[in-house]
Order: sequence, then structure tokens, then C-alpha cells
Amino acid sequence: QAQEALARMAATDFLTGLANRMSGIQTLAQELARTSRTKTPVSIALMDLDHFKRVNDTYGHNTGDEILKGFSAVLRQNIRRYDTACRYGGEEFLLIMPQTPLDEAVKIANRVLDALDSAPVSTTNGEIQISISAGVVEIKDGEDIERCIDRADKLLYQAKEEGRGRVYM
Ligand code: GH3
Ligand code: MG
Ligand code: MG
Repeated sequence: QAQEALARMAATDFLTGLANRMSGIQTLAQELARTSRTKTPVSIALMDLDHFKRVNDTYGHNTGDEILKGFSAVLRQNIRRYDTACRYGGEEFLLIMPQTPLDEAVKIANRVLDALDSAPVSTTNGEIQISISAGVVEIKDGEDIERCIDRADKLLYQAKEEGRGRVYM
């Protein structure tokens, strides 16, 4: 039982309670193996909070942390049971969507964006409006983890360059 608790802790991001990077990559690896066998689509979304440095500078790091938690809650509320949300880096999140073609994955990412748009995150410093940028890709047959994340990352970068607060596919 103690070992199970330790394993669970090792797979969880302490701040947000989401899967951590290691665990997210493990899940993605499993899904890649599954899709090459079953030929069912898998999509991922890489999301990054917009101008988060500014949020930290304006409201302080603790409020920044509260926003990361609040965003994680929004993420959880807007994905489906079999999707995995992972805190991939500081303010970067990876969504793994099994059995999901690109157009559906884009809808889910946009749902998260819309949810942020329609409700600010509450913090001890008041309600704060945030947005994300995202790159969404459907994994190609035989593609490895590095390549598909790299494709999503390039789209994310493009979404940032072209104004933020948008989902690119
Ligand atoms: P962009 O829209 O281009 O993504 O701008 P940005 O300011 O979000 O991007 P940048 O990568 O320059 O800054 C990310 C910031 O996220 C910087 C760092 O201080 C903050 N950050 C990373 N991890 C944490 C964390 O755990 N807590 C808090 N409060 N801030 C964090
Ligand atoms: Mg970032
Ligand atoms: Mg950012």
C-alpha cells in the first residue's frame, strides 16, 4: 500500500495534482504503441499560458501558482474521462487524447480556451483573466514521441507569434 502511494506520488505534479511530465510521457508512449497496433487515432495538444511572466510580475509568484491550479481545474473539467492532462513544464501542459481524430481534439482544446475566456480564475488577489495558446496534432503512423511533440510545439510557437489565445492545428 505504501509502495502504491509512493508510485502515485512519483507520477503526480505536486502543485496541480495533474500527471507530471514523466507520467504524461509514459501515457503517450502507451498510446503510441496502441495506435500502431489498432490504427485508432490519437491526438495531443500542447498548451502554454499566455504572458505568464507578466502575471507573475504583476501579482506575485504565489498568485501565479494559484492560477496554475485554477487552470488545471478548468482543464480537468473540459476534457473527457479517457484523456490525460499533464503538467509538461512550468506553465506548459500536455493533453493526450486517445481514440481522437484531429478535428475532435481541436474542439476540446478550443473548449478549454473558451472556458478561460468566459470565466476568470479566482485567486486571493481577485479574479484574473488568462488565456492559452495551443498546438494540436494527430499522431502519424509510426511517429515517435519526440517528433509529435515537436510538431505540436511548432504549432504552439506559431499560435504565439500570430497573437496568442488561439489553437493551431
Ligand atoms: P508567452 O505568452 O510567450 O508564453 O509568454 P510567457 O511570459 O508565458 O512565457 P515565458 O516562457 O517567458 O515565461 C514563463 C513564465 O512562467 C516564467 C516563469 O516564471 C513562470 N513559471 C514557470 N513555472 C512556474 C510556477 O511553477 N509557478 C509560477 N508562479 N510561475 C511559473
Ligand atoms: Mg512556456
Ligand atoms: Mg507562456
